[in-house]
Amino acid sequence: MSYILPKLDYSYDDFETYIDKKTMFIHHTKHHQSYIDNTNKVLKDLELSEVSIENLVVNLDKFEKDKKNFLRNNAGGHLNHTLFWKGLKLGSNLKGKLKNSIENNFSTIDNFKQQFEKVSMNHFGSGWVWLIKNSNNLHIISTSNQDNPLMIKNTKNNIFNFPIFGIDIWEHAYYLKYQNRKLDYIKSVWNLINWDEASVRFLNSD
Ligand code: MN
Repeated sequence: MSYILPKLDYSYDDFETYIDKKTMFIHHTKHHQSYIDNTNKVLKDLELSEVSIENLVVNLDKFEKDKKNFLRNNAGGHLNHTLFWKGLKLGSNLKGKLKNSIENNFSTIDNFKQQFEKVSMNHFGSGWVWLIKNSNNLHIISTSNQDNPLMIKNTKNNIFNFPIFGIDIWEHAYYLKYQNRKLDYIKSVWNLINWDEASVRFLNSD
């Protein structure tokens, strides 16, 4: 089995105001592609039947240590970027049950965004910031490197941290346009969150 680079629902220059074309192109065709190539290289020798990337990522404990660590970074990278691309869209609106739930958990949308920005700024080094659902509650968490919330199982109740959406805060995601201005990048990405996709994920997370 092997994974392939997902096609985007938009062009590399569609988000130019917020994320420049060159960053989008390199991020998709080079960074994401290399996570896929690395994952495929490992899986080639293992006799695995077709398995979704989510399934692979939650079953890393089944691999011996070296492969596990390698897949954690690379299969994680494939899953995270797949979610990231699908999670971007111009001009969608936060509404319905997801909006209600964010307001219930964070009191206001503005407060939610502020919390999200704070977690982003407090995260040191490469990683991701996520809105996740665990049990019936929403939380904002960051993960290091290419860890995905699904890898972090709540051992108390065995409930997964289900990612609703995530923002890539590796420097490769923003450095060409924003250099060290990570907060400007995050604030910019609010214009690109695909709330339709986030809502679908939220509704499917039960
Ligand atoms: Mn990335």
